[in-house]
Amino acid sequence: MSRLEYIKEEIRQRVSITQVVERYTNRRIVKGVCNCPLHTEKTASFSVDETKGLYYCFGCGAGGDIFKFVQTYLGLSFKEAVAQIDKDFALGITGEKISVKAQIAMREAKKKRAIEEYTKMQNNRLYNELCAQYRTVDNLVRVLEPFTYIWDKMITRKAWLESELDRLL
Ligand SMILES: [Zn+2]
Repeated sequence: MSRLEYIKEEIRQRVSITQVVERYTNRRIVKGVCNCPLHTEKTASFSVDETKGLYYCFGCGAGGDIFKFVQTYLGLSFKEAVAQIDKDFALGITGEKISVKAQIAMREAKKKRAIEEYTKMQNNRLYNELCAQYRTVDNLVRVLEPFTYIWDKMITRKAWLESELDRLL
């Protein structure tokens, strides 16, 4: 998750569409509707979906999420809208403290991916080595005289290689 996605998600969880609309427009949303703040009207065509955090106006067709609303209503860019909401609702999300937290989370995720890649690579190399050994041992088992000491050792080795290869697959 990028830093911006993290901030968006954090804001969505903490601020509702009703809170945002009421805060910036001084209108009251009753039963999910109010007069549209984005166009002039006498009937309430503007509706909000609290669960989804979305708004839609049946009069002018305007719709979107809390960020879109603040952008449209206050004439801001997306980044400015995020900063505005963060400030007005005193969320402290875009501040230094969270930024560091987000950075650490991203660094951890990157490290984890690198380790996974490395492990996969190591496993591949080991797998190839064991495959080569398996072919050699398998050939020996075919040509050696059965039930001799060395044949017995090779059979044991072959079984071990099989289980190791299974484990790595
Ligand atoms: Zn409207």
